[in-house]
Amino acid sequence: MKTADIFKKKTVFSLEVFPPKPDANESVIYDTLEQLSDIRPDFISVTYGAGGGKNGSRTIKIASDIVSKYNTTSVAHLPCINLTKKQAAEILDSIKSSGIENVLALRGDIPNDTEVSGDFSHADELVTFIRENYDFNIVAACYPEVHPESNSAVDDIKNLKNKVECGVDHLITQLFLDNRHFYNFRENTQLAGINVPIEAGIMPVTNKKQIERMVKLCGVELPNKFIRVLERYENDPVALRDAGIAYAVDQITDLVTEGADGIHLYTMNNPYIAHRIYDAVQSLI
Ligand code: FAD
Repeated sequence: MKTADIFKKKTVFSLEVFPPKPDANESVIYDTLEQLSDIRPDFISVTYGAGGGKNGSRTIKIASDIVSKYNTTSVAHLPCINLTKKQAAEILDSIKSSGIENVLALRGDIPNDTEVSGDFSHADELVTFIRENYDFNIVAACYPEVHPESNSAVDDIKNLKNKVECGVDHLITQLFLDNRHFYNFRENTQLAGINVPIEAGIMPVTNKKQIERMVKLCGVELPNKFIRVLERYENDPVALRDAGIAYAVDQITDLVTEGADGIHLYTMNNPYIAHRIYDAVQSLI
C-alpha cells in the first residue's frame, strides 16, 4: 500500500528499523521483525547506511520481506548524495521489482572525510527524478528544529515547500523531545501551504550515550524536564530505560491528542521498548 493512502483512514502508527551491519548476521533483523509483527504497524521503514552509495541491498531485501513475509507496508530509505542517476535508477528498479511501493527520498549527510561524487545535490532532485521516472509513493524528511545546515527556519521551510512540490506525498520528522517544536513547525508548514501529512518521529531515549550522539548529530534541544530525568537516572540503566519509555509515551499522548497525522517510532531495533510504548498508546491511535 502507498503510505499516503493510510493517512486518509486513521492516525498512522509506524516503525523504523535499520539493517544489520554488513559483517553482522542478517538473521538478527528477522528476530526483531518477528517480535515487532504483533504490533501490526501501518508501515515499517528501513534505513539505508549513512553515506548512501550502492550498498543498500540489505535495505531492499528487508523492506521486500516486510511486504511478502509480514504482509505489512514498507518504505525503503534512499540517500542520494553519492549516487549517479544511473546508479539511482538501478536501485529504484530493484526496489520496484521487489514489490516495495514507498521510497523515503533523502540527500544523506555530507561526509567530512570523503569527496561527494553523485549527480544529486539535495533531496528535491531525487524526488523529481523518482516522480519523472517511477510510480512510487514518495516520503521525505523534515526538521521541526531546523536542519543543522540551514541558515534560518524560513530558508528551511522554503526548501521543504520546494521539495514537497517536486512530488512528496508524506513527510516524517527528525526526532524532537519538546512537542512545542513540532507544533510551531506544523503551523509554519501550514502557513507555507505545505499540505501533505506530517508524521512525528519519536525516539525513546533510553541511554545517555545515545542522546549525547543525537544532540551532536541532529542539534536536538534537550528540554529541562528531560535533563532532570537524565541527571536523576544516568547511573541506573533500568530506571533510565523506564523513564525514557514514559517520556516517549507522554510525548505521543500529547501529539495524538493535538491531532498529529501520525507517529513514526524510531525503534532502534529494540522490540521490547517498542512494545512497551505501543501497549501504552494503542487505544489512542
Ligand atoms: P535535503 O532535503 O536535501 O535538505 C538538506 C539541507 O539542504 C537542509 O538544510 C535544506 O534546507 C537544504 N536544502 C534543501 N533543498 C535545497 C536546495 N534545493 N537548495 C539549497 N538548499 C537546499 N540518512 C541516511 O544516510 N540514511 C537514512 O536511512 C536516513 N533516514 C532518515 C530518516 C528521517 C525521517 C530523517 C529525518 C533523516 C534521515 N537521514 C538518513 C538523515 C538525512 O540524510 C540527513 O538529515 C541529511 O543531512 C539531510 O537529508 P534530507 O533528505 O533532509 O536533505
